[in-house]
Amino acid sequence: MPYLIPFYIPQEGCTHSCIYCNANVTTDGESFQITDQSFDSRINEYLETRKGKGNRVEVAFYGGSFNQLNKDKRDYYLGLVARHFNKKSIEGLRVSIRPVPLDEDFLADLVKHKTSLVELGVQTMNDSTLRAIKRGHDSKDVIYAFERLKTAGIKISAHLMVGLPGEEGKEFLESLRQVLSLKPDFLRIHPTIVLKGTELEVLYNKGHYKPMDIDEAIKLCAEAYLIADEVGVPVLRMGLQANSCLDEAQCSAIGGPYHPSFGELVLSKIAFDKMMALLNDSKQCNEGERTVTFRVNPRTVSRTLGNNRSNIEKLTKLFKLKGANVVADPKIKVDEILLEA
Ligand code: SF4
Repeated sequence: MPYLIPFYIPQEGCTHSCIYCNANVTTDGESFQITDQSFDSRINEYLETRKGKGNRVEVAFYGGSFNQLNKDKRDYYLGLVARHFNKKSIEGLRVSIRPVPLDEDFLADLVKHKTSLVELGVQTMNDSTLRAIKRGHDSKDVIYAFERLKTAGIKISAHLMVGLPGEEGKEFLESLRQVLSLKPDFLRIHPTIVLKGTELEVLYNKGHYKPMDIDEAIKLCAEAYLIADEVGVPVLRMGLQANSCLDEAQCSAIGGPYHPSFGELVLSKIAFDKMMALLNDSKQCNEGERTVTFRVNPRTVSRTLGNNRSNIEKLTKLFKLKGANVVADPKIKVDEILLEA
């Protein structure tokens, strides 16, 4: 993973608002004005605290539509980046884009500025949902964007949303399969949250939108994670990045399955299902009154135990166990769980 120096440009370049979006909230109200000076200072600050993190240093512009910035703004940002390439302080670029427009000039700019990856907002491949959420593109635009970005040699991290208006699990999983068939390099999956100040909030308040409940969202994301894993596509993030705008104090998330550790809850559910399958397969453990031990990678101990040891408590009850232990073992791969014989 590169060492990323992020610059948030909330909704810059967006010619309209997608009905669920309040980028000021999701970027924690960052009102960072990018100037020559502020850009350089942030880069220097990050470089000073890098301490060997990441295999290369990249600048990232998140929170807006980089491909819709007006040409002067885009040239200005890219000029700042190019200056740091010359000084050898950074080595690459990442940007958030929408599937349209992707003209030759823009792609050439991305390649020239060593763009290693774009965060591509897909959200769904269902055309009627794309119209309903006012994305301003359709599924054919997504397919075309994949083709053009791949031809340009730029990696793609595709964003999908679960719980969009009018969609249930079936539609979400269908979109997931379609996106995976386009071979993204990474995925990010966000549950649809009702944020203050959005058109979705109005629909929600009128009772025209019912958010997905958190258990359903966790279950679907767990399924999606495993489907993506099967075809070798890593899921980089599930859930919105927690921040002070989303938390209870400011309560910008007024409805929907928001949880500051949503991704961890999904991984914990996957671990629970794996342990249950292991116990089901183990005849001895079905005899009850036994203590069992699961060996996991040290990085996954906490998610395996579950929030407040909830996974272990549920399994103990379900299988009438005397006890269940989770032991850290560096020899076990991340995502693997071994039931000790
Ligand atoms: S394109 Fe992205 S940043 Fe712009 S309004 Fe839509 S979701 Fe928000």
